[in-house]
Amino acid sequence: MYDLVIRNGLIIGADGKIAADLAIDGERIAAIGTRLEGRRVLDAGGCYVIPGGIDPHVHLQMPLAGLVSSDSFTSGTVAAACGGTTTIIDFVEPQPGQFMLEALAWRRAEAAEQVAIDFGLHMTIPTWHAAEADRLDEVAAVVEAGCLSFKMYQAYAGMILDDVSLLRALTAVGQAGGRTVLHSETGPVLDMLREEARAEGHLEPIWHAYTRPAQLEASAVHRAAELADLAGCPLYIFHVGCRESVEEIIKARHRGIDIWGETCPQYLLLNAEEHLGGLNGELYVCAPPLRSIDDNQAMWLALAQNDLHVVSTDHCPWTKEEKRRDDFTSIPGGVPSIEARLSLIHHMGVNAGLLTLERWVQVCSTNAARWMGLKGKGRLAPGCDADIVIFDPARVKYIAPDTLHEAAGWTPYEGMEVTGWPRTVLSRGAVIVEDEQYTGRPGHGRFVERS
Ligand code: MN
Repeated sequence: MYDLVIRNGLIIGADGKIAADLAIDGERIAAIGTRLEGRRVLDAGGCYVIPGGIDPHVHLQMPLAGLVSSDSFTSGTVAAACGGTTTIIDFVEPQPGQFMLEALAWRRAEAAEQVAIDFGLHMTIPTWHAAEADRLDEVAAVVEAGCLSFKMYQAYAGMILDDVSLLRALTAVGQAGGRTVLHSETGPVLDMLREEARAEGHLEPIWHAYTRPAQLEASAVHRAAELADLAGCPLYIFHVGCRESVEEIIKARHRGIDIWGETCPQYLLLNAEEHLGGLNGELYVCAPPLRSIDDNQAMWLALAQNDLHVVSTDHCPWTKEEKRRDDFTSIPGGVPSIEARLSLIHHMGVNAGLLTLERWVQVCSTNAARWMGLKGKGRLAPGCDADIVIFDPARVKYIAPDTLHEAAGWTPYEGMEVTGWPRTVLSRGAVIVEDEQYTGRPGHGRFVERS
């Protein structure tokens, strides 16, 4: 007799699907088979049983220029849970002069008391930090503390690493057995284009897209791939949105370079014309920028063909008021989608015939678990964490701010009707969403040490 048995579902993993029961003891999956008996039984008839979603790129209660992104660790992880995501990875940003381990302890404590689901953290290496050679001596201890991945930027004042600093940081991370996640855009050239546009009086949101051309994303990806190869550091390119960058990733992989790419719902479903849509063009400002419908199609194809490997959200929620600026260069960047990710990719990918069910599970869960070192997550097998979603593929959901749990008060997907939504969600054996109602407890989530 197991603690809990999920009956009658279609169990879908990265490698195949099987109609079977799934049994849980404590926090772990105990067995997959037929006629399993449990003290508690959940009926998954007509539903998919999949590993909980993993979103390895989110920004909850993130400070930026006097603002804080609108989802707290509580509201953001409750929204994630209701959408079928059971693990997120957020960020640590050390302040000038602050040790990485100190910043990690602080951010970890801030999140731990609030999170509804498990979480990991990426360590940011800002400009000043990379400039002081002995600061990088701390990298090995940070890896040891379970923070396997390091965030680096090729753009943004205060964050940007020039090629020398980037190589130095990649080398330190590679030698420590860590890995690098990268914001890849050629920042100094973008800054020049943005200043030029402003000086000519072009302040409208669409100029955000005009001044961040795809070539300057792709050329940054190309340089970073070469440097990561020299440094012997696995590289993961964040938020790929244009065909040109995918081509650079493919070329690098053909040469044997250890590089992965992720994309996000906004680069699959939205395009730069959103900036022209009436009064709310500023809401869609995110970096890299939204591209074209042609690029959307290229991202779907790249996902299907394993040229891109993960769909994260880069969830960075600002309210309408916070995004309303009269100069495109001062709009806080980012869009929300932490809750609808799994269903959006199911509806627009699987239902549209672009992705198989197994590929959907890979890009929304299994692959991120693998690359990010989340042992025991992203798979349904005995011994793995019982992070499980019972997903009803027939449930029709109307997406709007008041049907979601996100705090931004708006969503780029408002008005969409998706077919397929999570019914019940388990985090390490605990039912935290039941019949679409959040029944969990903030603080249930744990910091996951990644290795
Ligand atoms: Mn981001």
